[in-house]
Amino acid sequence: MRMRRWFPSILCLPLLTGAAVTAEERAAPAPASAGAEARMRRDITFLASDECEGRGPGTRGIDKAADYIADQFRKAGLKPGGVDGSYFQPFTIKANVLDEPARLVLTGPKGQTIALKQGVQFWPMALGGSGNEKAPVVFAGYGITNEKTNYDDYANVEVDNRIVILIRGAPKGGDKDRSRELMKGAPFLNKIVNAEKHGAAAVLIVNDADTARDGDDLLDFNYTAFERGVGKLPVCHVRRSVLERMLGGAEALTTLEKDISRELKPHSRELPGWTANVSVKMHRGAIDVKNIVGVVEGAGPLANETVVVGAHYDHLGYGGSSSLSPVRKMAVHHGADDNGSGTTTMMELARRFAAMRDRQGRRLVFIAFSGEELGLYGSEYYCKHPLFSLKETASMFNLDMVGRLRSDKTSGKPKLLSEGCGTAKPFRELLDKLGEKHGFKMVNKPSGFGPSDHASFCSKEVPVLFLWTDYHDDYHRPSDTSDKINIEGMRRIADLSQEAILTLARMDKPEYIKVKSDPGSPMKYEGPTLGIRPSYDDEEEGLLIGSVVEGRPAAKAGLKADDRIVSIDGKPIKNIQTYMTILGGRKKGDTIEIGLIRNGKKQTVKVKLE
Ligand SMILES: [Zn+2]
Repeated sequence: MRMRRWFPSILCLPLLTGAAVTAEERAAPAPASAGAEARMRRDITFLASDECEGRGPGTRGIDKAADYIADQFRKAGLKPGGVDGSYFQPFTIKANVLDEPARLVLTGPKGQTIALKQGVQFWPMALGGSGNEKAPVVFAGYGITNEKTNYDDYANVEVDNRIVILIRGAPKGGDKDRSRELMKGAPFLNKIVNAEKHGAAAVLIVNDADTARDGDDLLDFNYTAFERGVGKLPVCHVRRSVLERMLGGAEALTTLEKDISRELKPHSRELPGWTANVSVKMHRGAIDVKNIVGVVEGAGPLANETVVVGAHYDHLGYGGSSSLSPVRKMAVHHGADDNGSGTTTMMELARRFAAMRDRQGRRLVFIAFSGEELGLYGSEYYCKHPLFSLKETASMFNLDMVGRLRSDKTSGKPKLLSEGCGTAKPFRELLDKLGEKHGFKMVNKPSGFGPSDHASFCSKEVPVLFLWTDYHDDYHRPSDTSDKINIEGMRRIADLSQEAILTLARMDKPEYIKVKSDPGSPMKYEGPTLGIRPSYDDEEEGLLIGSVVEGRPAAKAGLKADDRIVSIDGKPIKNIQTYMTILGGRKKGDTIEIGLIRNGKKQTVKVKLE
């Protein structure tokens, strides 16, 4: 009888059984809500604090967050579900790794030697390569060559085997079309590749005046460590004062910048007497990350089966390529909603389930995933190395961005988005019922291939459910902070989730259904399309375009056959599967940013979906 106690029709039963029934086991945990909200506020405030450093893989902050989550699991009484009796499932993510501190020594016209300090006056950039170069320094403006606008910072200056020093960004003057053209040369990688093309030996980059306005901050090595850099030259981000010194004063640099922008003419020139010796040693290695796994056992005939309750706890750290911040500066991307909120809700659920006595049904495996933002790495790793058989995993329940519950304009009810209700027969009805009971306006999407960790399980044919509360203006920006979280809303989502998970743990094992619109049947794919035909026999990472349909968004945005799509809105595209997954999560009318490689050069293109 206890198994189905939560059904409204037999809700009276637990009341009759007296003291053995815990408050948590009842479907409505309303009396505990104040306590729950206080706990959730505490958790999300910590996870989104400066101390956790935006939970970027490779930071100490993400390890603090991991310890915190493991500690909450331990305090709640969850069994360690990781390796060697721990709560952790370690794995690695490929990244560029610095072998030793880089060196940058300048020699001036009077023979003066200036040894710059890594981390103070310069940082090597992971986007570049290794090398030890000693050569005269040449100022090459913004390092941009743009045929369409007839602008070339390299036109009247010899840089062969020289070290070029460049300004970040692009000249700001001129009409819109012209500045948009010039901006194409602004990304670091484009500057590096262009310098390489012109025969430079190494690249030094200083912030432009705008970026430096409230502090001439440097990007550290790790900022770009996860990009698959194609630059071969050693590259350093150096302070403006270094270039100012070579030019003969602070004013000389600002004047130069202004002149270039006003005239839209390069002012590149030699810096007589100045040489630099730059030495960077790095390799393509890996950094250690970990999933956190805690287990609450079930009881009865289903106790050997599993339901996974997941939420990724990593975020963007100090920024990097997935940041949507208008200024690319090192800034803690707090990730309160993304995904401090899901992690917090998952931990709250772990506490509630751990407190239940003799819960009949499947084992619940709570997992905080890492590496989601860099490409669903943690969930993918778990699915390749499951700690509990995936065959015996009945379903996966994912929470990612559940902290911004807002009212729906038409119904006035708080709007909760779900995905995956098409991956098993009973899911749709379950969500509608629970949504109604908890007063949500549910927006249910059948596909289980949305852009979060449930997609990894869905591709292993595990039925999935995913809840979230939609995008917002702080998404992937430093301003996604805990004070903007709707704590009460998050608690309400936890209440609904609790009932959903109880059901998932007790229902007949749901049979996985392949949703029509999912990858594998692209003819019936209902999401927005770019109008490209992928090259299917391609083996490399990314999505190689076979052909482009005239008049469709891709063609309009200038994409061509043989372009390799490597990211959408900063999320890595590894293959057609991730491409469909991520594009399927976007709507017609959205503008997406596609990262692509053309002729070995990385660039980004904005595409309006239709
Ligand atoms: Zn995110």
